[in-house]
Amino acid sequence: MTEGIGDAWRRASQRIARLDARLLLEQVCGCTHVDLIAHPERKLLAAEASQFDVLVERRAVGEPLAYLVGSAFFYGLEFSVSPAVLIPRPDTEVLVEQAKKRAQTYAAPRIVDLGTGSGIVAIVLARLCPSALLTAVDVSVAALDVARRNATRYGAQIRFLPGDWYAPLDAERFDLIVSNPPYVADGDPHLLQNGLPFEPQQALTDGTRDGMACIRSIIEGAHPHLLPGGCLLIEHGYDQAVKVRELLKAAGFSDVDSWRDSAAIERVSGGCLP
Ligand code: GLN
Repeated sequence: MTEGIGDAWRRASQRIARLDARLLLEQVCGCTHVDLIAHPERKLLAAEASQFDVLVERRAVGEPLAYLVGSAFFYGLEFSVSPAVLIPRPDTEVLVEQAKKRAQTYAAPRIVDLGTGSGIVAIVLARLCPSALLTAVDVSVAALDVARRNATRYGAQIRFLPGDWYAPLDAERFDLIVSNPPYVADGDPHLLQNGLPFEPQQALTDGTRDGMACIRSIIEGAHPHLLPGGCLLIEHGYDQAVKVRELLKAAGFSDVDSWRDSAAIERVSGGCLP
């Protein structure tokens, strides 16, 4: 005989955070928080009980909750995620905010999101700027599948292209290039913490000592893909703003600036062509 959902929740809460236990239980049983409180005696089916035990164990060894429930929130919206994509970070909201500001100065801005992952940046921009023409690129076909699913869910019209940074864009030019590339330095101890070992390493680190290789490629390759007056906005690591601004200036960008995330860390830098 399996236990009731109330007992299962209590037992799992001794192994993992109470909130995580609740969300996993709701996922497995298709029940709500109210059910857990009002009907704690409801029995789990045997299959639910064993599935729940497996998920609790996976969470206990550090697998991110987002992968276990298959979704995460960004900018107030729920997105599908899988281990093929990074879990959305609130840090990335500043990239969206700055992109929105620039996009709103155009009637129908042409925007490309390089390394779209789960598609969150492109999809939120599509919702904030309904007239924008959006393209999203990722080298990972598995990531593009997740991004397409998310775009469909929100009715976002986005052209998805597989490939490495600018490679699939031929000679096309845009008003705005946005990117949240891999920028964590190889060997950064953060890569071993907070569930990062479960995330796609190619989305987190470029494998270089300063984590700047992808950022450099994106900045140095931007010019032929920007329309006159076009802008590039790029997310980067907590200690990379100065270097990113230098690279932007060296590549001929003006109005080079950086913007802080909610933790007051310079998280996004950008500039525009004259
Ligand atoms: N900000 C993320 C982290 O610190 C990294 C995201 C990225 O590499 N683009 O985990």
